[in-house]
Amino acid sequence: MYDLVIKNAKLINDSVTDIAIYLGKIVKIDKNITEQSQRVLDLHAKHYVSAGWIDSHTHCFARSPIYHDEPDLIGVKSGVASVVDAGSVGALDIDEFYQLAQQANTNVYSFLNISKIGLIRQNELADMNDIDVALFDDKLTKYPNFIIGIKVRMSRSVVGENGILPLIKAKDMQKKSGLPLMIHVGNNPPELDEIADILTAGDIITHCFNGKPNQIFDKQNNLRDSIKRAIARGVILDIGHGGESFSFAVAERAKCLDIYPNTISSDIYSKNRLQGPVFSLANVMTKFICLGYSRQRIIDSVTINAAQILHLENKGKLEIGYDADLTIFDIKQTDISLMDSEGKVRQSHEQFVPLACIVAGKAENPALFEITEEGSKNGLRISN
Ligand SMILES: [Zn+2]
Repeated sequence: MYDLVIKNAKLINDSVTDIAIYLGKIVKIDKNITEQSQRVLDLHAKHYVSAGWIDSHTHCFARSPIYHDEPDLIGVKSGVASVVDAGSVGALDIDEFYQLAQQANTNVYSFLNISKIGLIRQNELADMNDIDVALFDDKLTKYPNFIIGIKVRMSRSVVGENGILPLIKAKDMQKKSGLPLMIHVGNNPPELDEIADILTAGDIITHCFNGKPNQIFDKQNNLRDSIKRAIARGVILDIGHGGESFSFAVAERAKCLDIYPNTISSDIYSKNRLQGPVFSLANVMTKFICLGYSRQRIIDSVTINAAQILHLENKGKLEIGYDADLTIFDIKQTDISLMDSEGKVRQSHEQFVPLACIVAGKAENPALFEITEEGSKNGLRISN
């Protein structure tokens, strides 16, 4: 007896299959699963299923005074099974964030800010005394399955007079744990060339398609040599759209040169969720449809690629033995206008529309099925 069988699920390659879930894991994938199940969800080969979407860059510590949101609003209610809070929280607040995160239906992870104060103000690295290595190490040890990475923000407004120093410190602090390090780039100094040359395989440059002075292209619109070398070393490119950090022009130039981000993420928090230009991870993914990316590449960027880069071993794939985190969605044929962080608009004829999100296959908890009005109209229902 399975906990849940999803019948006639359309995969991103348009093949159709059944998926059986038991004790929070995917246990069978087959054309026609006939064994008994507690619940059956028939998608009638109309709706898509992928591994649960993972948003590698969000802000969801509700008590942050500047970048705050609720994990489930940006998570399961938006089709996202796992969210990574990218440095809203430092060592001083991580205990409280952990407690809040445990109440969410969404999987919540933290990239711990190297500044112990986190984002309680914009310039968290202006005073090097706010980096407390002993306290930082203590929290990494305390929350090994919750803190899955390290965040350092390297732009002028954040580091003040400290230049590149916080990044040198972060690379040193990373050594003990080997966790991925995410680097925010924005306004210079420090210069992107100086930042990129310090990074090693697995480090993540977020806001990779920003249109600010510290963008990946030089004044002649050529890819900076430092970024070429970084990509060759295995440095990761992450979108981190946000209110200020995604430019269609940069993304289009990158596409022409066959430069793709490894992960598509939102940098979402309440303000850019409600007022745009982010709105949701699905909305950010839709922007890559109008950039000419394949559906497969977009889905990989929020599933398998994200899971590998974040070292989430049992996530990101629809395969037997993997966690039963699934996103059910439509690719709706419709004309929509999409705006980047610089107010530039592009048109798309297709849109990712999340319908439901399943986390750890907990089919017995209806709250885990967040079916939008859209989905209800399409007749998406869970039957016993
Ligand atoms: Zn951010």
